Amino acid sequence: MRFDVVTIFPGMFGPVFQQGVIGRAIERGAIQLHAHDLREHTHDRHRQVDDMPFGGGPGMVMKPEPVIEAVEALRGANPGPVILMEPWGERLDQELAAELARQPGLIIVCGRYEGIDDRVRSALQAREISIGDYVLSGGEIPAMVLIDATARLVPGVVGDPGSLAQDSFVDEMTGWPQFTRPAEYRGMTVPDVLLSGDHARIRQWRRQQAAQRRVPHNKELKKT
Ligand code: SAH
Repeated sequence: MRFDVVTIFPGMFGPVFQQGVIGRAIERGAIQLHAHDLREHTHDRHRQVDDMPFGGGPGMVMKPEPVIEAVEALRGANPGPVILMEPWGERLDQELAAELARQPGLIIVCGRYEGIDDRVRSALQAREISIGDYVLSGGEIPAMVLIDATARLVPGVVGDPGSLAQDSFVDEMTGWPQFTRPAEYRGMTVPDVLLSGDHARIRQWRRQQAAQRRVPHNKELKKT
């Protein structure tokens, strides 16, 4: 799967995705990630990507031409859908990440300022995605969240597929408390049941714990 990101800060992506599971997947070629500088698609001397909002108001708006041309330049290499990160978009959850992970690629546009000129959405037939009901200063961190959540569901990215199956939101009985060695540390012990070797009891205990742990405002779990 191939991820192309259009951003005014392409340098933000390298440091984040050189690390850990995603970093190793990129090294192995299981996924590809390319961050592209939006300013490469400006036509003026100042390489301007923003301008004042029609109708007035504070702040600046991302101009349509550089974004549309940047995405068009990627279309040959990446056949996937175009995604605009926007706070008012469709909410990212595990189910949406799983759906996106079945695509051959994604072209992700990161907004800045007051947002992106609305003509971009229709011109690119883009899908808007939000990572939650709060406003960040740019689409780069949201894009990273989307890429991470999606990439780890691409076959071959996470080494042990069993760990995906037991993730929270995937298996309804997950999110249970986890413990590893030492069995006692500063007088804090591990629940006896986990040392019992009785797998039926362990499963039952985990199910109970996971149910108790759920934060009340979390929405109903969906099966992916
Ligand atoms: N005034 C705008 C906020 C723009 S924030 C509004 O109220 O809608 C600037 C950019 O940051 C957005 O274009 C988007 O790309 C990104 N962004 C901010 N919060 C986000 C969120 N919760 N999810 C996805 N993208 C977000």
